[in-house]
Amino acid sequence: METTEKISGIITILKSEYDWLQDHASFKDGVWRCDITDAEIIMKPVQHPIWENGVEPIGRETKTVYHLYCPRCQKEPEFTPGSPIERDDLIEAPNG
Ligand SMILES: [Zn+2]
Repeated sequence: METTEKISGIITILKSEYDWLQDHASFKDGVWRCDITDAEIIMKPVQHPIWENGVEPIGRETKTVYHLYCPRCQKEPEFTPGSPIERDDLIEAPNG
């Protein structure tokens, strides 16, 4: 099983993945665990340039976005470092 470093504090994630997390998992003993299998949810840091309204803003910004998936219920998604993400699609969420 893949191991994840302990992540604490505020993390940047996609809103869609955050919504999925709320549906699929619960926060227990310091980690998010799958409601069905109790597997620890993987949070994979990937670097992405942040765009606004479909364009790269002046003063290029790159953020570490944590991609979430369940190692039992899902196949590991393909992550594409360097692919742009819209700022409006992201939220800053407390991990826990
Ligand atoms: Zn699951």
